[in-house]
Amino acid sequence: MRAVMWGGTAYNVEVVDWPKPIIINATDAIVKLHRAGICGSDLHVYRGTNPGGSPPPFILGHEGVGYVSEVGPGVTSLKVGDAVVIPFTTHEGHLHTDLTRHIYSGYGFGIGLGGTQAEYVRVPFADDGLIRIPLSTNDTLINDYLMLSDIFATGWTALDYAGFEAGDTVAVFGAGPVGLLAAYSAILRGASRVYSIDYVADRLQLAESIGSTPINFRDVDPVQQILALEPQGVACSIDAVGYEQVNQNLTVQSDVIIQNMLAITSRGGGMGTVGVYVPEESNSPGAPRGSTVHTHANISLAQFQASEYSWGAGFSDPIRLTPQLLHLVTSGRAKPGFVVGDVVSIEDAPDAYARFERHEVSKVLLKFD
Ligand code: NAD
Ligand code: ZN
Repeated sequence: MRAVMWGGTAYNVEVVDWPKPIIINATDAIVKLHRAGICGSDLHVYRGTNPGGSPPPFILGHEGVGYVSEVGPGVTSLKVGDAVVIPFTTHEGHLHTDLTRHIYSGYGFGIGLGGTQAEYVRVPFADDGLIRIPLSTNDTLINDYLMLSDIFATGWTALDYAGFEAGDTVAVFGAGPVGLLAAYSAILRGASRVYSIDYVADRLQLAESIGSTPINFRDVDPVQQILALEPQGVACSIDAVGYEQVNQNLTVQSDVIIQNMLAITSRGGGMGTVGVYVPEESNSPGAPRGSTVHTHANISLAQFQASEYSWGAGFSDPIRLTPQLLHLVTSGRAKPGFVVGDVVSIEDAPDAYARFERHEVSKVLLKFD
């Protein structure tokens, strides 16, 4: 089969022939991919920081939609031909459904399982580890479903980390696919006003198209701008960027967003962090431009306490959120696929990675037909 492979060199992925996965455990299924997402989390590996720390080569990707092509004898609720979303939270040996703590997906980070950016993937604990969806030939709808793999759930969860309640005002740092779906979730959940902060014009336009007020931090100081519009500050602020965040000069600065969040969040408000901060030890030796991880911030705990802030951080759990989010998509009340900027053949994955990493395109999907 064809597969997108990370061989260990930063800014370099290859499409190679690789053996098709086989059923190993009775509860496994093999899924034939129809579409796979490239995510900001794949960019960590691409840039030379390898959160799993496992030795390359490995197949990238942890988001996908496809069809069940084989089931093990222990799989009871799925049959060959079923259409499914592959949630990113399955890990070899553990299924993270009822836990409040998570670790990274086993897919696509070299942690046990091959990634979804391949023609086929093996899914352990398939009965619980796959989300069944209606069969559809509507590509727009399929893109909506694909967002259930990870980033719709992640955007939604960012609000929970910030203690969001309907009617709140929300500022989202980052208008990448994750930040856009955090802003979109806030609007779906009844936020009174939503602000999206980024510097990439096309992404800010997408934010505006869903009703979020765009703020370009290269043109204006986002703190001044938000406080001018919301003199009391916003109830919730979200970090949907992580360690790769840059300041106004586009220089990587690991605490610019938390400092901004502390400055704009109202007394008693909440902050939610879903942008990823991988451990500094995961820097690959000799990692090049922009790929070195720094994860420290200097914040005033006195200010934090006096402001009665709460701060939540972590990953999301697409399987746990399936009852809500699947229904929103199936009923047509949520169309999170609006973040998709391009759908390209798997053979074009190296170019797609490069364009996505440079923020030249919003979410990119790979297709296999
Ligand atoms: P992305 O790289 O496409 O988007 C990041 C955006 O942040 C870019 O548009 C960039 O211009 C913007 N940005 C940089 N500095 C900024 C600043 N100071 N203020 C505001 N915006 C700034 O990535 P993505 O796919 O949207 O993912 C974003 C983050 O979410 C990544 O760290 C990814 O690993 C993480 N993520 C977390 C989870 C989870 O479960 N917690 C799941 C998926 C992705
Ligand atoms: Zn993802």
